[in-house]
Amino acid sequence: MPGFEFWGAEERKQLNDVMETGILMRYGFDGARKGVWKAKELEEAICKTFGCKHAQLVSSGTAALTTAMCALGIGYGDEVILPSFTFVASFEAVLSVGAVPVFVDVDDTLTLNPDAVRNAVTSKTKCIMPVHMCGSMADLDALQSICREHKLILLEDACQSIGATYKGKMLGTIGDAGTFSFDFVKTITCAEGGAVMTNREDIFTASDGYSDHGHDHKGTDRGADLHPFIGYNYRISELHAAVGLAQIKKLDDFLAIQKKNHVALKNILATVPEISFRRIPDPVGDSCTFLSWMLPTEEITRAVVAEMKVEGILPGNFYWFDNNWHYIRKWDHLKNSVTLNALSDELKTAVMHHANKDFSASDAIMSRCVSTAIGLLWTDEQIKQKGEAMVNIIKKVMSEQTVSA
Ligand SMILES: *Cc1c(COP(=O)(O)O)cnc(C)c1O
Repeated sequence: MPGFEFWGAEERKQLNDVMETGILMRYGFDGARKGVWKAKELEEAICKTFGCKHAQLVSSGTAALTTAMCALGIGYGDEVILPSFTFVASFEAVLSVGAVPVFVDVDDTLTLNPDAVRNAVTSKTKCIMPVHMCGSMADLDALQSICREHKLILLEDACQSIGATYKGKMLGTIGDAGTFSFDFVKTITCAEGGAVMTNREDIFTASDGYSDHGHDHKGTDRGADLHPFIGYNYRISELHAAVGLAQIKKLDDFLAIQKKNHVALKNILATVPEISFRRIPDPVGDSCTFLSWMLPTEEITRAVVAEMKVEGILPGNFYWFDNNWHYIRKWDHLKNSVTLNALSDELKTAVMHHANKDFSASDAIMSRCVSTAIGLLWTDEQIKQKGEAMVNIIKKVMSEQTVSA
């Protein structure tokens, strides 16, 4: 999955361009930087590669979500609908703007169940935030029609699905805004970094200012910038952007390798009739960073995961149901609203209410699901070995289950 598997001369060359001038900051120092503007260049490359009008680089995917929410005017009194299966960053960002994260169930797409979303809409709902988990997409047509019906904002968390498409459009460019993460384990990496993408100029201008203290970036004298609103600092550095520039040029290659390795592994697992696969709303658009598969029951899945651990092939296979980072079941800090500083009583009560709802519909999917991260460096032989080892374990567990039943 991650771009760090392909670190090389291209990244070093881009970094050296910045080291030569010593201008590590993305703004100002126009003369001294001798025409080297890595962050700007990467923003242009993002627009071109993903087909959006505007891109604002920031320091992380989490910062991108917060920046996008501020730019979209999401804040106090607003509810944001998001899935029970995501990364903690998604709800952290909602809380960072003072809004209420309203979690709803996922379905066998591993993303928002549109019916659950519809049931969760209230007069306070401002935004639907699908999270395109594990390289593939939410059912965007269904979500867009809910947004239209209730006049809601669509903000795509596409941090994990760089290069995936839905009906021919890149994920992250379809909603009012979308975000990418370029952290170290994402499809392409800057070490740390993120982007807000949008086709709306107002959202872009707000993101550009917000991520740099509200500076209006209108003139060439940075010190004379005015502040049309209060901002924050989520800037990316030139060093990080330089790495990203090298990586974005490799994206097509990464995606081609992922797709090839994904198909090869899937073909092996598909020989087991009890395995089903994640439903993908637009299968050709899958970026194939993961292969997500399901077994008939939680008991069987747990036994397979345990056996994979014994056999030493668990690394790279994720059983999200027990995972502290990605699934609501283990988010005790959220369920108890443990924060370092005080939240308003109103927000605290709402957070705890929404985090402690019944997610048995999500449990029914997530307890049977394993996602296998697709390696970029795997050889055909390694895929075969890995796939066959997985198949053998699953068959063994299935036969034991049949015997004990
Ligand atoms: C990685 C990730 C983020 C946050 O990105 P960082 O760059 O690590 O802050 C947000 N949402 C999802 C779904 C992610 O996987």
